[in-house]
Amino acid sequence: MSWFPDMGTACMIAHGDHVRAVGWLSDQHPFPTGDTPPEFLARLKEFCRRWDEGLGPLVWDVFMGPHRCELCGRCVASGNIGVPAGGVLFAAPEMIAHYVEVHKYAPPAEFVAAVLSAPLPGTREYAVAVAAFRAVALQQQLGELYRPGQPPRA
Ligand SMILES: [Zn+2]
Repeated sequence: MSWFPDMGTACMIAHGDHVRAVGWLSDQHPFPTGDTPPEFLARLKEFCRRWDEGLGPLVWDVFMGPHRCELCGRCVASGNIGVPAGGVLFAAPEMIAHYVEVHKYAPPAEFVAAVLSAPLPGTREYAVAVAAFRAVALQQQLGELYRPGQPPRA
């Protein structure tokens, strides 16, 4: 899986001023560790369990095949989750729950707070919370289809 810095505005699944990448870990880069609240891990697991229900509201693609954890090789996951918090959308790999539980990864405090307060994918509240991000993603996808000076892709 590709590495992206925590709180950067780009990762494999999304990019833009509203995006905050979280949990795109690699065995090539050190990451912060520590204890996180048990209720955070429980809620994060629920987000990850429902990752496919977030794809429609976020207009995110399903990405190529599963990834294996680079740190232990014992976990395989293929999804991604989007966690809205006001004008910010945290974008994390499904593997993030494994990183927190097994590798003691301590995500940024803003992300912990967002997971605890955001509605879950699959709910009407979630669709409402990500509606603005959905519009941006659609505009980005259109922009990639219709580049100036080039004929539209079929
Ligand atoms: Zn692992």
